[in-house]
Amino acid sequence: MNKIEEYKSEKPGLEVMHDLPRYAEEGWEAITDGDKERLKWLGVFFRRQTPGKFMMRVRIPNGMSNSEQLRVIAELGQDCGKGFVDITTRQQVQLRWFRIDQVRQIWDRLESVGLVSLQTGMDNIRNVVGCPLSGLGANELLDASAMVREYNDMFVGNPEYTNLPRKFNVTITGCMDNCTHGSTQDISLTPAVCPDEGEPVLGFPVLGFNVAVGGKQGSGGFRPATPLNVFAAPSIAAEVCNQITLIFRDHGPREARNKCRLAFLVDEWGADRFREELERRMGCILPPAGRDMTPEDGSTDHMGISAQKQAGLNAAGLVVPAGRISCGQLLEVARLADTYGDGQLRLTPGQNLIIPNVPDARLEGLKAEPLLTELRHDAPGIMRGLVSCTGIDYCHFAQIETKELAVKTAAKLHKTLGDTGPLTMHWSGCSNACGNHTVADIGIQGKRARVDGEVIDAVDVFLGDKFAGMAEREPLTNVPCDVLPEVLTRILGRTPAAVA
Ligand code: SF4
Repeated sequence: MNKIEEYKSEKPGLEVMHDLPRYAEEGWEAITDGDKERLKWLGVFFRRQTPGKFMMRVRIPNGMSNSEQLRVIAELGQDCGKGFVDITTRQQVQLRWFRIDQVRQIWDRLESVGLVSLQTGMDNIRNVVGCPLSGLGANELLDASAMVREYNDMFVGNPEYTNLPRKFNVTITGCMDNCTHGSTQDISLTPAVCPDEGEPVLGFPVLGFNVAVGGKQGSGGFRPATPLNVFAAPSIAAEVCNQITLIFRDHGPREARNKCRLAFLVDEWGADRFREELERRMGCILPPAGRDMTPEDGSTDHMGISAQKQAGLNAAGLVVPAGRISCGQLLEVARLADTYGDGQLRLTPGQNLIIPNVPDARLEGLKAEPLLTELRHDAPGIMRGLVSCTGIDYCHFAQIETKELAVKTAAKLHKTLGDTGPLTMHWSGCSNACGNHTVADIGIQGKRARVDGEVIDAVDVFLGDKFAGMAEREPLTNVPCDVLPEVLTRILGRTPAAVA
């Protein structure tokens, strides 16, 4: 049994809630090793990099938020934090630098606007990701946000779901622009039309989802989700996710932590056995996969100004460099959402923000706001596609600093190359791949490398499909960080596909 399974068998993760008042009184030094891990069940993270200063991950299903919520988060960042917050690739927010005795008051303020941090770490179902333009996007097959909420409500706060073998990532999306990287998720529900072909049967055709399972990026590297040849109608989509989660809970491997993701169970069982078990638990035969409505390649980030499906309304996607935003900027974003939109806000898997529901007549006013020179709707391609994990400042797994280096590298590339056109550059500080570097045009993974007898900050560079046919398509290994901009400039400067 691995250490985390031992901790869970001694005391379930959520039970640490009862110890919190004592720890608030006695201070962080009194927290046991087991409870430091269990606190992650509450979304409270002890950081070895900053002992005594904690991080909290706030769950925002489908990235759907509003000015009231983000105002509270910004105020918390000012009152208890470090003056900034990070937007993550799971469309949620991370607060940093608060003390253990401040957790209760932070929760109270979050709960007052309908937010919780529960189960955002460790062996739990992480924030469920969906298209940030759900219900609004001109190119969505169906609005899946209700199914995200239905599934979310099944497990948040429910101890039945808090002892999974490992973390569990889910996306449910009706967007036909592949904006949530479905192939990387443990469960991926992506838009489809059933039946795929042939004569419609009673009650069909239906718009819904094809189901794939076992995608991952860490734990040994990228493995794309395996299609189950199952179509899930919207009415059963949340229950399908629920039953797959329970299959993982009951049958997932629990030995070595790096072999516990759902992918390993799918590899062991194969798609057919997995589907049979799913049908047994659902109590019905599920229809075969429908017509896949996602593009074969490419994806969209929903940045910039786009016309919504609702006539006369627009969504303004604002680029937040590497996902880090000051609390002052966040308060201003909330004001702009109230002034120019209807107060709604969306967080994207690209760590950016969207102000939706801006009428045509207010668009020019929004574009003229000073904040939009910092969080640009018309950012150059290399900045628009920039994603970065936390890095060494706050993550003890990290091999290098990431966020600042990512922004500086992108700025240098822009200066030398001009606008590259759409280009994604994702940074992860280690092989855990929180920066989703396996699904980027340029994927950067930090490492320490020995070069000329000296151990230095370095990266491996992975090049995506845009670079097919180039000699450098193989990963470039051990690239010293201080020459990375020059190396990337050489590659991009010779790549017409990447330079529009
Ligand atoms: Fe930390 Fe590695 Fe994840 Fe970055 S990718 S946040 S360094 S665990």
